[in-house]
Amino acid sequence: MTHPIPQTMGQQFGRRSWAEPWKIKMVEPLRMISRKERQRALEAAGYNTFLLRSDDVYIDLLTDSGTGAMSDRQWAGMMLGDEAYAGSRNFYHLEEAVRTQYGFRHVVPTHQGRGAEHLISQTAIKPGQFVPGNMYFTTTRLHQELAGGVFVDVIIDEAHDPASLHPFKGNVDLARLEDLISRVGAEQIAYISLAGTVNMAGGQPVSMANIRALRQLCDRHGLRIFLDATRLVENAFFIQEREQGYADKSIAAILREFCDLADGAWMSAKKDNLVNIGGWLAVNDDALFDELRNLVVVYEGLHTYGGLAGRDMEALAIGIEESVQDDHIRARIGQVRYLGELLTDWEIPIVQPVGGHAIFLDARRFYPHIPQDEFPAQTLAAELYLDSGIRSMERGIASAGRDPKTGDHHRPKLELTRLTIPRRVYTQAHMDVVAESVKAVFDGREQTRGLRMVYEPKYLRFFQARFERL
Ligand SMILES: *Cc1c(COP(=O)(O)O)cnc(C)c1O
Repeated sequence: MTHPIPQTMGQQFGRRSWAEPWKIKMVEPLRMISRKERQRALEAAGYNTFLLRSDDVYIDLLTDSGTGAMSDRQWAGMMLGDEAYAGSRNFYHLEEAVRTQYGFRHVVPTHQGRGAEHLISQTAIKPGQFVPGNMYFTTTRLHQELAGGVFVDVIIDEAHDPASLHPFKGNVDLARLEDLISRVGAEQIAYISLAGTVNMAGGQPVSMANIRALRQLCDRHGLRIFLDATRLVENAFFIQEREQGYADKSIAAILREFCDLADGAWMSAKKDNLVNIGGWLAVNDDALFDELRNLVVVYEGLHTYGGLAGRDMEALAIGIEESVQDDHIRARIGQVRYLGELLTDWEIPIVQPVGGHAIFLDARRFYPHIPQDEFPAQTLAAELYLDSGIRSMERGIASAGRDPKTGDHHRPKLELTRLTIPRRVYTQAHMDVVAESVKAVFDGREQTRGLRMVYEPKYLRFFQARFERL
């Protein structure tokens, strides 16, 4: 079944093609090593694509984190770095950009997203409190747990079904949240952790109607909403496309309307915000800001740089302004969809509808003969690399880690391999090459065997775990 590309993309009219809204000023050569060399490299990496050397990779779809291309304006901004230890002018530019586009009053820069997650978790969670959220994210949940919180998934059921065509699979199940509140009491809930789009569900959006209803529910119980704003601009695109009444509103206006319903946000600026490193945390509450501004000095750096160089903050401020432009976001998601369309036409099982930043191959349906304990999604990532030097990432049982209480594997319903598209880096021809490689691996799926984990680190094991072929 094909998910229709909306008319705004212009793709269904062959003579009216869509194209990237930029041209290339500088190029970086790519190289593909031989299959024999790839086999050696994969064994040396313990079948974990995180442990491959980038020089051994042809098209790198490991992540869209920090892998985007900066614009000429951002590079020019790098030359305007004010490297003062305190009060850098680039910080004030960054603060103004966050205030304007996201609407929060107080801004704390951090070295990347997890730095911000650490600070908000330490200040806003009391040990033993619950943190309901719309599906977990690896670093987010870990920081919540390290602060003594207990994450509770309150996303709608459709999010766990890779075939469901629900337009807003990132939505919170309000009845489930209400039920949690009545069971444990509102004072036992730290805050609502709301991500849009939801990475682990396949880049799926949250609707404006859902956050508005969530706001009302939270107001009734005196609860705060903090956003994981990492891909909130992409979320705004889906609202513009799918939600009644938003077709004529700009991405920037939708983003502001969404943020105005929350109490604060943390950001991995390496995603939406178009920089290679950086993050921020922004809140409205004065007392909370006071605590955050104090804590950032301990873990990141002074509150006017938070672990970033002045030049990084300048590139980030410009990146924020570029990231909310309608043309940019339409092209970004258009490229992801182009790849999704090719795979869908060839009946390759992927998460539908196609989300904002990546194609998620459904490894369960890809390899029905490989049990989840033999890491089907990890296996698929390894096979793709072997076939063509394309690097992808596991998002299944290895990423889910273990239950801290029982020590058993978390067994997520979704067992996915993610082809993540960096922003403004690859062309449509690269997407063709990727699709054809996935098809080749799909055609050889019956001969493929699973993996066994032979080394398992304690934290975020998927980054450094090692595997062997069964
Ligand atoms: C990447 C990411 C983070 C963590 O940010 P880093 O910059 O990698 O530390 C948090 N939440 C989401 C949704 C992300 O995608």
